[in-house]
Amino acid sequence: MGRIFLDHMGGTRLFSCANCDSNLTNRRELISTRFTGSTGRAYLFNKVVNLSYSDVQDRMMITGRHMVRDVFCKNCDTKLGWMYEFATEDNQRYKEGRIILERALIIESDGFEERGVDGNN
Ligand SMILES: [Zn+2]
Repeated sequence: MGRIFLDHMGGTRLFSCANCDSNLTNRRELISTRFTGSTGRAYLFNKVVNLSYSDVQDRMMITGRHMVRDVFCKNCDTKLGWMYEFATEDNQRYKEGRIILERALIIESDGFEERGVDGNN
């Protein structure tokens, strides 16, 4: 009870929570670095682990109306960015289910080779 189960994405280039160092995702999941969040530069990822999600919110953005959820580190509850739940503009639909992490709130570090990490190579 109360124990937080954390996943680990593996990979050779890792992105982690800047506050508690929990692994969030890796370079292979990175789709774009050309997004802007409340703290500045933000990255769009295909898959991110160890997050908790807020309720869906209706948000008007430069690129149109979106339904989003704020995302938080599952370990330390720091707000890290948001997830696109639904985009109303057809040309923005590729973002659905994808996750924005703000660059200032995550750290990028060298990981390790995936093979042999937990003996299942
Ligand atoms: Zn954290």
